[in-house]
Amino acid sequence: MKSLKLIMATVVVSAVALTSAVTYAADGLVGVLMPTKTSQRWINDGDAVKSQLEALGYTVDLQYAQDDIANQLSQLENEITKGPKALIIASIDGTTMSDALQKAADAGIIVVAYDRLIKKTANVDYYTTFDNFGVGVIQANSLLKGLGLPDKKGPFNVELFGGSPDDNNAFFFYNGAMSVLQPLIDNGTLVIKSGQMGMDKVGTLRWLAATAQARMDNLLSANYSDGSRVDGVLSPYDGLSRGIIASLRAVGYGTADQPWPIVTGQDAETASVKAIIAGEQYSTVFKDTRELAKATVELVNTVLSGGTPAGLDTTTYNNDVKVVPSILLTPFDVDKSNYQALVVDSGYIKAEELQ
Ligand code: BGC
Repeated sequence: MKSLKLIMATVVVSAVALTSAVTYAADGLVGVLMPTKTSQRWINDGDAVKSQLEALGYTVDLQYAQDDIANQLSQLENEITKGPKALIIASIDGTTMSDALQKAADAGIIVVAYDRLIKKTANVDYYTTFDNFGVGVIQANSLLKGLGLPDKKGPFNVELFGGSPDDNNAFFFYNGAMSVLQPLIDNGTLVIKSGQMGMDKVGTLRWLAATAQARMDNLLSANYSDGSRVDGVLSPYDGLSRGIIASLRAVGYGTADQPWPIVTGQDAETASVKAIIAGEQYSTVFKDTRELAKATVELVNTVLSGGTPAGLDTTTYNNDVKVVPSILLTPFDVDKSNYQALVVDSGYIKAEELQ
């Protein structure tokens, strides 16, 4: 019995050695699943991951799922049958992939959750993202700066928006922001006239701009028809900010009499950087998707080459089954004063696109 175990162990060891020898050449298929093309950032992410993997010799299958959960799941199932070496997945709903990912694990496919954590499964190997709590902190601090604190004392009327409740990031952004804002709400500096707080009240399913716009319409008519003014809006994503701004514009904000409130954002999307230049949106958070793509491609290539990835955070992202080893990149606060240096001079957006 003992000797059989020894033989089995030897067979397993040589199989592993053989596998790493084969994967050393940077070839093979990598499946890349992105959520939607309706947001520029995911297009940038997909393009950057694809081109960087191809430069290393991999073949890439890049797919977008139009924010449709069932569509993304069938793309995932289909991709697994093609026998990729790795899957890089930016999920729409991070809780719905457990069955498919069991099949991926059984097939020995490396799975990387890209920017959004995949939850409720042991079969996600790595997570690459930004400091998402830090994003929320940046958004809140920028809101306060725009309102003129600490020189101006308030009280200021502020409304809160959250991201999609099926995206783990949305909670990190909201909690990060509230870590800064809650004490100022408690001491009366910030007033949430609608009283709507908490992700269950302020979340925006699927990150839809139209949903944010409709909610802002309601907030304005229910709470600000008495002539009072909205001074600031915490918005977690540029697409939502544009919906919120459209709603504000419709009731007369953006004039000398009724200047724009301070509206935050995220992703440094071209349309929103333009809105920042025009003074409609106050700020955004720049997360360099080229860097995220680079970190992810390096990670995948290291693992497929039999190496050990470095610089992993092993405490922050528990997916309800395990802590997923993560690479966390740094987000940056962008407003009118520094968009040129951070976003244009770095080549992220071309100057002419902002004309
Ligand atoms: C990303 C954000 C993005 C949002 C909407 C989040 O998961 O981290 O960068 O704004 O999704 O696409």
